[in-house]
Amino acid sequence: MKKFDPSTSIHDYLVFGEFGDVNPSITDSSTFTFLSPKSMEDSFQHDIEGCFLYSRHWNPINKYLSNALARLEDAEAAQVTSSGMGAISSVILQICSAGDEVISERTIYGGTYAFFKNFMPKFGISVKFVDMQKPDAVDKAITGRTKVIFAESISNPLLEVTDIPAIAKIARRRGVKLVVDNTFSPMVISPIRLGADIVVHSLTKYINGTSDCVAGCICSTNEFINSLCDVNSGATMLLGPVLDSLRAASILKNLHTLHIRMRKHGDNAMFLAEKFKKLGLRTFYPGLRSSRNYKLMKDIMNEGFGFSGMLAVDTGSYSNAEKLMTRMQEEKVGYLAVSLGYFKTLFSCPGHSTSSEIPEKEQKEMGLSEGLIRFSVGLDNDMSIAYERIHRCLKELDII
Ligand SMILES: *Cc1c(COP(=O)(O)O)cnc(C)c1O
Repeated sequence: MKKFDPSTSIHDYLVFGEFGDVNPSITDSSTFTFLSPKSMEDSFQHDIEGCFLYSRHWNPINKYLSNALARLEDAEAAQVTSSGMGAISSVILQICSAGDEVISERTIYGGTYAFFKNFMPKFGISVKFVDMQKPDAVDKAITGRTKVIFAESISNPLLEVTDIPAIAKIARRRGVKLVVDNTFSPMVISPIRLGADIVVHSLTKYINGTSDCVAGCICSTNEFINSLCDVNSGATMLLGPVLDSLRAASILKNLHTLHIRMRKHGDNAMFLAEKFKKLGLRTFYPGLRSSRNYKLMKDIMNEGFGFSGMLAVDTGSYSNAEKLMTRMQEEKVGYLAVSLGYFKTLFSCPGHSTSSEIPEKEQKEMGLSEGLIRFSVGLDNDMSIAYERIHRCLKELDII
């Protein structure tokens, strides 16, 4: 495969505003004028280049952001949505009908897990959770009813790396669509280049990077994106998770520094992961040579953007995790908050927060221990300052 640089690809995407502004103009409009009734009628039948109908369908700035995201993922097309969950639910409901089945990785984002397990059955769509680390198990789980395999490129919260080329091969052979949630690793991993059919993102996280909004996107073929926004049968058109145009404009501006941020998040996370490991703590980070996914990660990642800023550490018990997180916040290491991709370090205890939708027994089976702290490592200029504070807290609490 030819080397791919997602940052160059995005920067090749150049749009001027109406007055030659270096940022494209924001169209602050829900509806658009037509010069003739005929062109209005035509635009219900098919897209007319440069013509917009209604903002739930498309508007110019959402198109600019979508096109830039398509370049990021080396996809033919993309569509932005009002949230990551809006992207995931639209994709599944577009592809699946009553009686169909989804095969999903079992360690996934809690909201996705809850949507699959509690919500989809209302529409007669069932789900089988499997260990994505075992491609053979995925192959075995596929039946005539399976329409989608769903995986996260780096999974939440145990940071397992999915062998996308292997799973994509199975998906292709069995005629099933592979959907990959790439929220944890934009730029770092390019799932479509590795064989995935559809990539979804929560833009809320790294891509926007400032924790000031919720947004999502879907990247795929022209055919699939067109089907999503079909006025008569498209999931995004009819379910309506439309991103506001003002917000699309601010996300587009943030997107253009993503390569710098991912590199720094990755450097800082690597620094902390190595330190934690040296202290003898059970540390989950795909950039560690001792990680079981290290070789796979090296094989599939784009060079130059690090191993992502997500890392997890087992503190042994929930009580240790609680105390450590409280102390770290007091010491200004970062914030005790869910979500990720912010410029400050964020930490949370997945078993008691973002993954709490997953029953306790299942958490145990997947190796999600109660004392696990998930870090979204920030953009600190000198990570050793935060590390010294964490080290002090760990000692003070007798965790090391
Ligand atoms: C946050 C998140 C989502 C959901 O995205 P929202 O923007 O909060 O709707 C989906 N997948 C992953 C991996 C996430 O971290």
